[in-house]
Amino acid sequence: MSAANEQASRFDPGFAREFYALENGEYAKLCMQCGLCAVTCASREFMDLPPRKLFKLVQAGDKEAVLQSQTPWLCTSCMTCTVRCPRGIPIIDVMHGLKYFLIQQGSKAPVALMSKIFAENMLRRGRVFELALTNSFFLKAYGPVGAIPIALKMRSVGQPMLLKGRLPLKPPKKIKGLDQVHKIVKKATEVMKREGHQDGV
Ligand code: SF4
Ligand code: SF4
Repeated sequence: MSAANEQASRFDPGFAREFYALENGEYAKLCMQCGLCAVTCASREFMDLPPRKLFKLVQAGDKEAVLQSQTPWLCTSCMTCTVRCPRGIPIIDVMHGLKYFLIQQGSKAPVALMSKIFAENMLRRGRVFELALTNSFFLKAYGPVGAIPIALKMRSVGQPMLLKGRLPLKPPKKIKGLDQVHKIVKKATEVMKREGHQDGV
């Protein structure tokens, strides 16, 4: 296959249609590529694709690039882009729909795993136990052998945090009313399931 044909085969109009059928996915059609979201996004420097480019790739049907992008996972739902978009695109909602789609597709993105571990960790006590969170993330994402070099690389961050008491060795106490938090999550999960999200995410 020639380079031009290979390039063309990446683009699947069927994927654009699949995306538009997602919850809030249709808004991606409205993007006029003005770039305002990209210049105002506080997380932009960490994203591989700014929202503008992500929407362009959706329109072009570049499924692989969209599915592999870390952008939806790094969106903090800060709303900045949403209030500034001249087309009134609820970018946060599009990102949420995309995240759900990625989970359904079995996304192996490290940030997807981090989101899951964070939620499990937080629901245990109502507060995050950061040491357990980081250990669990690195072990699950990279395995015991892969996690060691990463832990060594992160030593310059972890050691000062430990010494300053910013990374406690003991888990925090459970918050008051943790059962209420669990009830809210249970209710939200039931609503999601009722609306067709089988696993409640
Ligand atoms: S601000 Fe809105 S219209 Fe402009 S590039 Fe971003 S999503 Fe598209
Ligand atoms: S809502 Fe997400 S994409 Fe929009 S500015 Fe905030 S972090 Fe960036």
